[in-house]
Amino acid sequence: MRIDSILARKQTFSFEIFPPRGELPVEQAASIAGEMSADKPDWISVTFSAGGTGNSANTAAIASRIQDETGTCSLAHLTCLGSSRDDVDEYVGKLRDGGVHNVLALRGDRAPGREVIDFAYATQLVRHLKDTAPWLCVGAACYPEGHLEAPSLIADIEHLKEKQDAGADFLVTQLFFDNELFYRFREACVRARIKIPITVGIMPFTSTKQIQRMAFTCGATIPAAVIKRLAAAGDDPASQAQAGIEYACEQLRDLAANGVDGLHVYSMNKPAVAHATRVALQECGYLGT
Ligand code: FAD
Repeated sequence: MRIDSILARKQTFSFEIFPPRGELPVEQAASIAGEMSADKPDWISVTFSAGGTGNSANTAAIASRIQDETGTCSLAHLTCLGSSRDDVDEYVGKLRDGGVHNVLALRGDRAPGREVIDFAYATQLVRHLKDTAPWLCVGAACYPEGHLEAPSLIADIEHLKEKQDAGADFLVTQLFFDNELFYRFREACVRARIKIPITVGIMPFTSTKQIQRMAFTCGATIPAAVIKRLAAAGDDPASQAQAGIEYACEQLRDLAANGVDGLHVYSMNKPAVAHATRVALQECGYLGT
């Protein structure tokens, strides 16, 4: 199943998982995805070496197992910094052999040892995938607050338009905690003639430390409403995590009421967190029972 065909007929609901580190990562990831499939997401995405974990060897295999074992559509991430065309083609071969028809085409973060070989930007990866594997549905990333390296949000949106022009079929946003920033970004995309569906990525924060880290790694603004809730939660880890789930559910309900193309939950590999978001979206009528 291709994600663009799903987006063509409905507002979607999906989860992201990342390959766990350590022993038996494929089994662990398959078991997490199995639990999450009970919440009937339209797809589950699997990251590719996100956060510098170096854990990308099993992304294609996990994406394939999710489909085979749970019947849920999967989306395999792929970064291109430090990769050659041959590396990309080999990965695409694994997706094809595993029956995976959806890929999220990313540049990846700059890091030592990840120099440009054949691809400097995600746009070039999107174009290569569209030229060489037209059977793939290709998604790309977008940034409601602008990518950290971009000189301005407008400049970033101009480059986003290039990803659409290269053939990207849909977009997934970076996480954010202030919905108003997303609504403004969406209007700017309309003005820039970006017409492909934008699915909105929301991450329930799990602790004060974690949200601080996110603010620095992806530049997300932390609104006063979040700070007040974390202050009320104090030093208790369970209260901080609960505040994160409640805040994300409020964000998701508001986005649902404002007509988004899709809602994507950065689940942090926690089926209980993913389930809480489904319940919230059922209660507000975005999802059926
Ligand atoms: P690009 O679209 O190439 O943009 C990167 C920067 O270059 C931007 O500032 C853009 O404005 C600028 N730019 C683009 N084209 C040009 C041009 N022609 N000239 C000058 N500047 C240009 N990382 C992982 O390692 N693994 C993952 O699985 C992963 N999953 C992600 C999922 C989502 C939904 C998101 C939002 C991010 C994810 N990331 C992941 C992080 C991502 O790799 C980083 O944010 C990376 O720094 C940028 O990737 P990109 O594909 O957006 O890059």
